[in-house]
Amino acid sequence: MIYLDYNASAPIDMRVLDKMVDVYKNDYGNADSRTHDYGEAARKIVDNSRQQVADLLGINKDEVFFTSGATESNNIVVQGLRKYGIESNKKHIITSAIEHKAILESVKSLEAYGFEIQVINPNKDGIVAAKSVIESVREDTLLVSIMHANNETGVIQPVKEIGDYLKNNNVLFHIDATQTCGKLVEEIKTLNYDMMSISAHKMQGPQGVGGLILKKKNYRLPPVTPLFFGGSQEHGIRPGTLPVALIAGFGKACEIAINEYRLNYAHCIDIKKKIINLLDDSGIEYVVNGTQDSCMPTTINISIPNVSSEALMLSTKQYCGISNGSACNSSSYKPSHVLSAMGLDFDIIESALRISWGHDTKTDELLYEFSRLIETAKSFLS
Ligand code: PMP
Repeated sequence: MIYLDYNASAPIDMRVLDKMVDVYKNDYGNADSRTHDYGEAARKIVDNSRQQVADLLGINKDEVFFTSGATESNNIVVQGLRKYGIESNKKHIITSAIEHKAILESVKSLEAYGFEIQVINPNKDGIVAAKSVIESVREDTLLVSIMHANNETGVIQPVKEIGDYLKNNNVLFHIDATQTCGKLVEEIKTLNYDMMSISAHKMQGPQGVGGLILKKKNYRLPPVTPLFFGGSQEHGIRPGTLPVALIAGFGKACEIAINEYRLNYAHCIDIKKKIINLLDDSGIEYVVNGTQDSCMPTTINISIPNVSSEALMLSTKQYCGISNGSACNSSSYKPSHVLSAMGLDFDIIESALRISWGHDTKTDELLYEFSRLIETAKSFLS
């Protein structure tokens, strides 16, 4: 049995879990309690984690805001700019057709408030051209939101080029870095952006905690307003009692990533090479969806023509945990909005498999179970 759906959620690192258990057992105070040492101890843990997230991203710790995950962070960015957009009469938003639904559906909801949403399509390789984004910028553009790497194809987007342009153009730039945080560690540090979304469980931290990064310009935060009210936590941007143990786990996952990302990257690249070799040696006909010239080392999206991915996943689920897209959409089968936007043929979309792994994936087990999957696919074809 092998788990190959890390892009949906990665298994927690045992060192992270140990840290969390320790906090749950010993530091159960509310980080905002001022009247006793329990509160002070919890506050210190949160503060330390905030520093660890900041260190991973190469930013200041007062630019890190803890949320429940990237879905919430994306929503704060989009919904939180509504008031400012209306007041400043900047109601044009640019995004791409391959974003996570937490962006696409959130920006769509702003149309009811008079916002105009421009959705840029990727090319057949799965890349959203920087030029298309840049050329779409107008006087009234409020926000550009582009993901760092796509969760279905792993294709890395030209956010460096886009950010460098927008930096001087008075347009807010948001990057959904959920799939790259802790993996493209050096690259992220070089990016220019105003806001960034991340989720701990995609980098072997706990589920249910993430971050919204709000970069300061001239000592001022981007003009987002909160979605919730009733507390002053996280500068009022995300009120509510902080989940101290989850935050401690997130911080620990960041610390581990800082120390180990280079080795992890090399191991994941090696796994990808071996998967491709296995496919090539098997003689099965397959296509890779999304360019490999600019792709995450942890993801590959392939189609085996004439083999329905739904049928294949069902027949192999006892030993292979893979998916054909985002878990957020997978309860009802709909063709992937990402592959559709890339203009791929319907039969390629219908046979698409997303395989994603991590540094702790055991290569031998993976190759053994994956070759069983290929044999099953072959049997469908004969
Ligand atoms: N953005 C991207 C690119 C993602 O892959 C995901 C998770 N599939 C999210 C946002 C949402 O993250 P979460 O479910 O942790 O809120």
